[in-house]
Amino acid sequence: MDAAPRIRMLVELNDDNRGYWTGGANGDLLIARCQDCSTYLHPPLPKCPYCWSDAVVPEKVSGRGRVYSYTINHRAWVPDIPVPYVVALVEIEEQEGVHLATNIIDCAPEDVTMGMEVEVVFEAVEDQFVPLFRPRRV
Ligand SMILES: [Zn+2]
Repeated sequence: MDAAPRIRMLVELNDDNRGYWTGGANGDLLIARCQDCSTYLHPPLPKCPYCWSDAVVPEKVSGRGRVYSYTINHRAWVPDIPVPYVVALVEIEEQEGVHLATNIIDCAPEDVTMGMEVEVVFEAVEDQFVPLFRPRRV
């Protein structure tokens, strides 16, 4: 079952966010990381707010995480998007507090739970690869 919206609002790519939205071309989830203090930063920032380093680059992470919070959208905001679907914040396993706004797919909305283990999958839309998450297999 795939409850993902079929029409997506694409972001405008820039040097900070390009890694996140295009890493999926190679199957990689890339999260901006400060090379000086090793903190992951999301949404991506040009400068680390913790140590003020400019050395922030997208780094590959495992693609695994947990559902930090979620809501089930039942309203058909856009006619072509099937409802209901799940809007979630997924916390990456590499760092507490790094939350990705995403959808949970390949799962009935009522089966999504807080803390559920998930893994990334990518949906290609034009030149971007939108990171979505599904229940972890294995
Ligand atoms: Zn830093």
